[in-house]
Amino acid sequence: MSLLELQKEVKKFNQASKLTAAVQDVDRLIDLLVSAREEVAAANDPHTASQSLVKLQNRVNAQLETINSDLGRVHKSQNAFHKALGRAFKETKGTLPTDHDPMESQTALINRAIAMHLLREGQFGVASTFIGEAQPQGEAPQSPSQDQERPPSIMISHPDEPPDAMITDADIPSDLTAFQSQRLQEKFADMYSILSSLKQHDLFPAIGWARANSTELEARGSNLEFELCKLQYIWLFKGPAVNQLPATRDNGLTGALAYGQKNFGRFQKRHLREIQRLSAAMVFAPNLGSSPYQTIFNTDLAFEEVASSFTREFCSLLGLSAESPLYVAVTAGALALPNLVKYTSINKAKNTEWTTTNELAFETPLPRSMLYHSIFVCPVSRGQTTDANPPVILPCGHVLARESLQKLAKGSRYKCPYCPSEGVVKDAKEIIL
Ligand SMILES: [Zn+2]
Repeated sequence: MSLLELQKEVKKFNQASKLTAAVQDVDRLIDLLVSAREEVAAANDPHTASQSLVKLQNRVNAQLETINSDLGRVHKSQNAFHKALGRAFKETKGTLPTDHDPMESQTALINRAIAMHLLREGQFGVASTFIGEAQPQGEAPQSPSQDQERPPSIMISHPDEPPDAMITDADIPSDLTAFQSQRLQEKFADMYSILSSLKQHDLFPAIGWARANSTELEARGSNLEFELCKLQYIWLFKGPAVNQLPATRDNGLTGALAYGQKNFGRFQKRHLREIQRLSAAMVFAPNLGSSPYQTIFNTDLAFEEVASSFTREFCSLLGLSAESPLYVAVTAGALALPNLVKYTSINKAKNTEWTTTNELAFETPLPRSMLYHSIFVCPVSRGQTTDANPPVILPCGHVLARESLQKLAKGSRYKCPYCPSEGVVKDAKEIIL
């Protein structure tokens, strides 16, 4: 059975297997019973009551039959799909390369990736269970006994989190990991607690974190601390009617002004213009909506935006990407799989072998956000650059492969093949795509 046929089956299944009809018929039955109850209650003599009960019996029976046949249809389509799946998998079995499984020897790394993913998603309970169960046989940790002193648990109050986000240090076996799961877990617990405050429009934990890490953040060129302080100013500016904070002198325009005076000074060098705009908006406070500052004060998405840049910076200071690598790898893999299956089955039919070990023999279309290492083809040699022969950028902005540049150069000097500029070879900088 081909992929196309299977897709057809999925479509058929989706169309046929709806429980909606059954649910509607059950609702109708309930309506029937409710109205019969009212009829009986309203009846003024026993004869009318028993008559309506007799009438009810037939109608209920008919309705039950309708429901049964609704369910029968769903059941039938489930059976058909089950059979189709069985056929599809019997036939595809063995078309993927089974003799070479590059993942086989990497169980530890894969487990690590899964544990990391769970930790960074804030699923601490699931992560600790997974880490416990992924231990090689015989090394299973002793479960902590009741009399053992248990360290205080960390409760993450995340509105979307299931209650199992509660973790204790004793849940994580200390001898388990080469990747310091406990330290990471604490870090992520911090991250989720700050994020949950952000969700409730409380910026202070995030500002505190950004201030404590301001040196590292600035070195990365991040504006996070200023963005957070700016939002705090705007939030106070809007006053108690919007921010629902107590109507004291620390809120509203006076609160915003005091906050700005106290906190904006440190950002003057880099963000003077924005600070000026924020201060000038004070004058327009009575009708901000028709002022030139209207857009800065639109906070509809502001909290979500700072939350996502906070997550990105927080992860990057931990040396992690903002997106879970496992998530990216699995998604990219799922997108690439149809092509891979097609390719291998064509090869099988032609009896040819997979010859390239480190790269795919075909293009895999992926969304831009999932492209990490673009390739570069040297315009001079027309060859793809490699680690040994990396792309270099000339001071004029043109890029070619290092070997091509060396071939073009006369002694230590070169002439750019694409523009009139000349220079010395050592000024060419290696670039990483
Ligand atoms: Zn040039």
